[in-house]
Amino acid sequence: MTLEFSDRIRHVPPSFLREIFQVLADERIISFAGGLPNPDLFPTEAFARAAHAALTEDARGALQYGSTDGIPELRAVIADSYKQKDGIDVDPEHILITNGSQQGLDLLGKVLINAGDTVAVESPTYLAAIQALSLYRPTFAGVPLREDGLDTEALRTTLERNKVTLLYTIPNFQNPTGLTYSNDVRERVVHILDGTGTLLVEDDPYGEIRFAGVRRKPFATYTDDVVLLGSFSKIVAPGLRLGWIVTRNQALYEQLHVAKQAADLHTSTLVQHIIYRYYRDNDAQAHIEVIARHYKTQKEAMTEALDKHIGATLTYTDPEGGMFLWATLPDNIDTARLFPLAVEEGVAFVPGESFYSGAGPKNTMRLNYTNATPEKIDEGVRRLARALARYHS
Ligand code: PMP
Repeated sequence: MTLEFSDRIRHVPPSFLREIFQVLADERIISFAGGLPNPDLFPTEAFARAAHAALTEDARGALQYGSTDGIPELRAVIADSYKQKDGIDVDPEHILITNGSQQGLDLLGKVLINAGDTVAVESPTYLAAIQALSLYRPTFAGVPLREDGLDTEALRTTLERNKVTLLYTIPNFQNPTGLTYSNDVRERVVHILDGTGTLLVEDDPYGEIRFAGVRRKPFATYTDDVVLLGSFSKIVAPGLRLGWIVTRNQALYEQLHVAKQAADLHTSTLVQHIIYRYYRDNDAQAHIEVIARHYKTQKEAMTEALDKHIGATLTYTDPEGGMFLWATLPDNIDTARLFPLAVEEGVAFVPGESFYSGAGPKNTMRLNYTNATPEKIDEGVRRLARALARYHS
């Protein structure tokens, strides 16, 4: 049977993700392509204890349908964490538990975007955010990134030229570039948006995984007109599919609540009960520090290997946390054409152009350093150097 698919789904741009996942299945390939946390650092034993506790202390509650906004105990854990880390008052009532922050993106698109609306995104930005929001058929306006965050002059121009529904940002250890906004840029972004009617969205799955520098202030420190997306994927484990949305805007919260209820009634009660007990009975902060220390070692292994095996022809961002760095090669190299050569040599990355909502430069790539040992990272970069040598010959 030949099916006619909806305009909505046909509007979603094809992504490189499928090729990435094919590559990940081949064990001979060292992958810098995916965005996978280091599985050796999943708190497996503590989690097994938390699961046991959930199923003995309150098995009926944990296995029953629950409320759409999420269990109050877990929302209290999240609210408390914002207070501890950033001194911001988040009421548990402002938190909606979601199936990963990816669902947060979908729900925001669903309740805010009409076909043809302009959505501003960092250029480059998170591939699956472009995908998620594309379902609602916006026009994307890419705002360039600089070393210290969004190019605020370009943002100002974008807002002057268009009525922009929302600005989607990843201010900490951005995916894909690893860049972090300075406090100054954060303040300017809030100032520029003030009075424009554009909703600021801060997606922050990596902010706690900092291994250098000092913690920056979330946009919510400066303004109430912001939506925060959070996730347990990088600080506990991504297979839980547990994230959250924070908004102090009551009308927006109610619409998101309706959209969430219509989508899936609620996020797994059992998983919420387990995570709550994991936080109650363990020092989750100490665990996050262990993750950050490991990622520091892995990041250093990658930058050392890039310097040693490739050298000055490749420049890279030097992230203070998170899971990725962004490499730029000379203008005459197209990383999409380099990709098959790299795979033949036994290494994978994501060509940078995939991360642009429109056309982007062809000579960039995203490198993930969290899913290979320092030895494998060194070997992978050696293979990348071989692929580059073949590209030129
Ligand atoms: N936002 C960004 C910037 C991400 O990098 C990711 C995952 N790689 C997500 C959202 C989705 O994360 P989650 O597992 O919470 O759905």
